[in-house]
Amino acid sequence: MPRIKLDHITKQFAKGSRAVDQLDLIIEDGDFVSLLGPSGCGKTTTLRMIAGLETPTEGDIYFDDQCVYSTERGINVSPDKREVGFLFQNYALWPHMTVRRNIAFGLENMKWEKSKIESRVKEICETMRISEYIDRYPAELSGGQQQRVAIARTLAPNPRILLMDEPLSNLDAKLRNDMRAELKRLHMTTGATFVYVTHDQSEAMTLSSKVCLMKQGLLQQYSPPLELYGRPNNIFCADFMGNPSMNFLDCTGTAEGSALSLAAGPLRLKFTPNAPVSFEEKKDYVLGIRPEFVKIVDNGGIEGRVVSSLPTGMDTVLSLDAPGIRLSAVAFGSIDYAMDSVIRFNFEGDRYVLFDKETGERIELGRLDIHE
Ligand code: ATP
Repeated sequence: MPRIKLDHITKQFAKGSRAVDQLDLIIEDGDFVSLLGPSGCGKTTTLRMIAGLETPTEGDIYFDDQCVYSTERGINVSPDKREVGFLFQNYALWPHMTVRRNIAFGLENMKWEKSKIESRVKEICETMRISEYIDRYPAELSGGQQQRVAIARTLAPNPRILLMDEPLSNLDAKLRNDMRAELKRLHMTTGATFVYVTHDQSEAMTLSSKVCLMKQGLLQQYSPPLELYGRPNNIFCADFMGNPSMNFLDCTGTAEGSALSLAAGPLRLKFTPNAPVSFEEKKDYVLGIRPEFVKIVDNGGIEGRVVSSLPTGMDTVLSLDAPGIRLSAVAFGSIDYAMDSVIRFNFEGDRYVLFDKETGERIELGRLDIHE
C-alpha cells in the first residue's frame, strides 16, 4: 500500500484566504493518520485534494513514486485512477438495493467478473460481520449496521488508500465507540493506508498512528497521538488535546541557575527543565499543567477549595481554587469531594510544559516544585 506525500500543498478558493497553506506531509505506508483541528481549518479540503476531488492551487502530491498531482508539471490523475476509497459522513446506501447489491454494484461498474464479484462480496461481508444481513434492504438495518455496509462497499474494490471524512459523526456515542474499535481492527486486517478527518480529539487519539493537527490551514504538529498530548509544540496543540483540558497559568519567570523561579499570582513555583535551557533573566511564560498531574495529597503541598466535583465512577474531575489560581484536577477511583471542602494538592513527575507567552511555543518539559 502506498506512502502519500504532500509537498507544499496550498489551496486558495476564489477570493478566500488559504484553506490549506504550504502543507508538507508524509503519510507512511500502512499508517492511520487523522487530520484534526477546529471547524474550517482545512481538514476536508486536504482529504479531497488527496482523493483528487479538489485541485490544489500549488504543490505536488505523490502516491509512492507516482506523482498524482503537480501544479508546475501539469499532472492531475483523475480520482478514479488514484485507487482510493472514500467514506463520507452521509454514507447514502441505495435504498432499493439489498446489502449484497449495494456492495456488488460498484464492482459491476468496474467490470469485474461475476464470479469474482460474488466471492468478494461474500468475503467483505464476513470481514465486516454483516453476512447475516446480506439480503436485507438498508431500511431494515440499524444505523451501525448501515455504516458497516457502507464501509464494506468502500473496501470491496480493495482500495490502496481509504479516505474517511467524519464517518462516525451520525452515530450515537455507544455505536461510535464500537465502530472505532471496528475501524482499528480493519486497519490491521486490510493493511491499507487510512486517512481520517475528525474534529474530535479523543477519536484522533484513540484511532491514529499519527495525528496531523491543523489551525487555519497551517500545520501545527504532526506526531503520534501520545507525543502530541505529552509534548505539544505550542499552546494551541496543548489546549486542543485532552479532556478535561490542560491548565494554563500565566507566570513571570526569573532565572535561578539551571531552573526557573515562577510567580503565578501569590503562588511561587520552581520549574526544573528536563533538558538545559538558557533562561532570560526575567520573562513572561505560560505554564501548562495536565489535570492528571495535579495530585491530591493528605499532607504538604498547597491548600485548595473544591469548587466542583464531577465523579464518573472511574475518576473524578475537580475544579480547585487556590490563592490566585484555579486548576482542574483528575483524581482516579470512585471518590466524591464535598463542594467547598478544603483539600491539599501537589505536583508530581516531570511532564509540566513551559511555553513562551509571547509566541505560544513550547520551551521545554520539566519538573514543578512548590518554591521554598
Ligand atoms: P469542518 O470541520 O467544519 O468540516 P474543515 O476543517 O474540514 O472544517 P474545510 O472544509 O477544509 O475545513 O474548509 C477550509 C476553509 O476553506 C474554510 O474556511 C471553508 O469555508 C473554505 N472552503 C471550503 N470549501 C470551499 C469552497 N468550495 N469554496 C470556498 N471556500 C471553501
